[in-house]
Amino acid sequence: MDLKTTSTTPNKGCSKNKDMSLEKYKKKRIFDTTPEPTGGVASDSELLFVIQKHAASRLHYDFRLEMNGVLKSWAIPKGPSTDPTVKHLAMMVEDHPYDYKDFEGIIPEGNYGAGTVIIWDAGTYEPLEKTKSKKEAEKLLINQLNLGSLKFSLHGKKLKGEFALVKTTGYGDNQWLLIKHRDKYASPTDITKKNKSVVSGITLEKMAADPAALKWKSKPKRAKKSSKLMHRNTP
Ligand code: MN
Repeated sequence: MDLKTTSTTPNKGCSKNKDMSLEKYKKKRIFDTTPEPTGGVASDSELLFVIQKHAASRLHYDFRLEMNGVLKSWAIPKGPSTDPTVKHLAMMVEDHPYDYKDFEGIIPEGNYGAGTVIIWDAGTYEPLEKTKSKKEAEKLLINQLNLGSLKFSLHGKKLKGEFALVKTTGYGDNQWLLIKHRDKYASPTDITKKNKSVVSGITLEKMAADPAALKWKSKPKRAKKSSKLMHRNTP
């Protein structure tokens, strides 16, 4: 990160930080060949989370928490668990743009993360401490993130209640654990058995075979109407 870089474009609030935080994301992708989003503007009211089930070279779940206008992201190979005795590895990855919360479909062959994506769960989240505003909540969460111990409450369709993301030591810089706290939503039942998208209602397998999603692959530029299966954002 080069802090000396000056920008000629006017910046409001944290938009410059946001651009810098998405640098890695943008470097990895060619937006003419992938339907993935490039940006987005967060709402003023609530903090969102999304979990995408992603059949890339290896199946994993992408856990994303909105913070300061972008989505902080972790790849969880085994997916989330609602069992407080289970700690699943969560690899922190590059920040994703806010609009990624709406993305499901197919990332065509040859692109970074090529494979099928469904929105496995989505909703709002909040820190465990009471805060007066979204801004205050984000400040608190960023602080926890920097300290390597995030605690929050999810209000999703599948995941509810308190969770923690805790950075582990000794395994490199990006390894965290996702842990369910003991509350009324804790359960030993495997939540990943619920395998349908909370948006389109279809499974990853069905999405992979869905002709509407595949159409983008052959004629990307002509996909004018954006359906929920084919989100395409042009800058
Ligand atoms: Mn992924």
